[in-house]
Amino acid sequence: MEPLRTLILAAADNDVIRRVVATAPGSRQIVARFVAGETVADALDAVRGLAADGRTATLDYLGEYTSDPELAEKTVRTYVHLLEELGAHGLARHAEVSVKLSALAVGGDEVLAGRALSRICEAAEACGTTVTVDMEDHTATDATLRVVERARQRWPWVGAVVQSYLHRTESDLASLAHKGSRVRLCKGAYAEPGDVAFTDTHAVDVSYVRCANALLEGGAYAMFATHDPRLVSVLRQRARWYGRERGSYEYQMLYGIRPDEQRRLATEGETVRVYVPFGEQWYGYLMRRLAERPANLALFLRALASR
Ligand code: FAD
Repeated sequence: MEPLRTLILAAADNDVIRRVVATAPGSRQIVARFVAGETVADALDAVRGLAADGRTATLDYLGEYTSDPELAEKTVRTYVHLLEELGAHGLARHAEVSVKLSALAVGGDEVLAGRALSRICEAAEACGTTVTVDMEDHTATDATLRVVERARQRWPWVGAVVQSYLHRTESDLASLAHKGSRVRLCKGAYAEPGDVAFTDTHAVDVSYVRCANALLEGGAYAMFATHDPRLVSVLRQRARWYGRERGSYEYQMLYGIRPDEQRRLATEGETVRVYVPFGEQWYGYLMRRLAERPANLALFLRALASR
């Protein structure tokens, strides 16, 4: 990992830096660019804003790797409340939710996480929307896919996520890329060792296209999560090649990242879903976004310095 990225990720775990960032007046506008706010009401406002120009959302209540059962319970309740509010405000057709199993149960306990996911799926079913289970680091891949598979027996619309940087992903798609299966394809966000993941960016991109082909060929509802302009245009060509109509796949990008491109794709009639994080635990998420792209870090430091 590059030194700058390592430094920023270390800052993500540092309480002093967290306090400085949280209280520095200039940081507010940068946080607001990547995080919708702290409350369910903020998340609903973000959905309305996106829906106004034809984009949909997947809402993520921030938090992961919880060691506190009360916090895990709070996370489940917040998702259930969020889904009820989406239904009550007529927003369920514009938004679904994304969940991390490590936030739903201490240690990502498979049985407890499965039960928690079921409560969230029941609430999603009641309001008429869907749930996607985010993929975390490679030590959780098997358990996460098992939990998704079990949930799909009752709710076939539960979305799975695969990461093109993992060597195993193409073979995982053999059982995931079938018709009716909602699968998000991303490059992968964790620092993984070379024995399980491609470390060369070109190899990750090549794997992304191979996995995209598998999803398009197999008839899955593919959710292409990437900001990469080259991949976006390759994906469109591949979708055409496989005779896919618009609406039989979608593009996904993160809140605040390449918003003009999101709008452009939506204007062209593509389905665009924006991953919208919200909640009190925004700090680690923000640091990861800054680590991914030094240009964002420069923006952030300028905003702090200008106050
Ligand atoms: P990168 O390889 O980071 O960048 C490629 C190119 O994209 C850059 O050269 C640039 O041209 C453009 N680009 C990238 N970032 C920016 C930016 N900030 N501003 C302008 N241009 C930019 N990871 C997981 O491990 N599990 C998940 O469940 C998961 N879910 C995700 C859901 C969504 C909707 C998205 C978008 C990502 C998700 N990720 C997830 C993160 C993902 O794995 C990548 O870490 C992240 O998206 C960066 O990869 P990238 O494909 O965007 O391209």
